[in-house]
Amino acid sequence: MSSDAPSRAPAVDNDNLALPFRVEGQNANGRVVRLNGVVGEILSAHDYPEAVNILLGEALVLVAMLGTMLKFDGRFILQLHGGGPINTLMADYTSGGGLRGFAQFDSAGLHENLRAGKTGIALLGDKGHMAFTVDQGADMERYQGIVPLEGETLAQAALGYFERSEQIGTCLKLVAAPLLLSGGECDWRAGGIVLQQLAAEGGLADAAAFSTPPEAKSAADDDDWNRLSILLHSAQPDELLDPELAPQDLAFRLFHEDGVRVFDKRPLHFECPCSGDRVRNMLTGLPVEDQQELQREEKIEVRCEFCNALYQFSPEEIFGKTDGHR
Ligand SMILES: [Zn+2]
Repeated sequence: MSSDAPSRAPAVDNDNLALPFRVEGQNANGRVVRLNGVVGEILSAHDYPEAVNILLGEALVLVAMLGTMLKFDGRFILQLHGGGPINTLMADYTSGGGLRGFAQFDSAGLHENLRAGKTGIALLGDKGHMAFTVDQGADMERYQGIVPLEGETLAQAALGYFERSEQIGTCLKLVAAPLLLSGGECDWRAGGIVLQQLAAEGGLADAAAFSTPPEAKSAADDDDWNRLSILLHSAQPDELLDPELAPQDLAFRLFHEDGVRVFDKRPLHFECPCSGDRVRNMLTGLPVEDQQELQREEKIEVRCEFCNALYQFSPEEIFGKTDGHR
């Protein structure tokens, strides 16, 4: 039993990271995720209502915890779609630790639903669905799993996903909340914890887990798993959010009886790869009719939904000098 990382990386503080750990006695892998600064940065690019911020904050924690469990090179994307006042919510994680996200919603409908007492994923309506995508670039296989959006919270919906599609025992907790500061300012915090049974060797991290039929488990295994799940759910929101509490201390407090081993922290940061060049390429790749329409505009404006960056061009900058007299 060890609570020390096998190798000590340069000091990373207790925030904006995923801490991998293993409950050794139970062959289960976990992550503690804490995103206080990063989530604040992502949300401050937008001006979303609190209920949307909570859901997007939780979604960012979810992609960070699952993305850091996958062995892959590319982008891990969570998409929620529904017919409710929130119609789209996206969060994605790149294998270098970058996170970004956005939401699209109808303000009037949202406020009406909030007044009616709806929260969480109910704000996406009754017939929503959630999709996880592993995008490893154009010439690599793209994996996607889609399930109906069920439950009351994003954590419940995510568990539903694992029950349906992966058959890997998973328990997790997500939290996002505003911290009110003096002067009326507010600082967003988000964090979470996940624990996942390892199917033989691998679990989610190993593609082979997708083709291995679930093994028959003994009753004792299930008792142990239930106990771990209860322990995980005993983690309080403030423990998941408090930067003063080291994530390894939380993992150890919860699971020390079974032996906790922690690994190197994985730093997380806000990152949006949008750029003027990408926007330019997108515009010159549009159908000819659309390009002709844009050429008649005085100014072309494109806003990145993820980071809210605004790109402005004159038609000449994109399409060069057009007919006219010369
Ligand atoms: Zn962007």
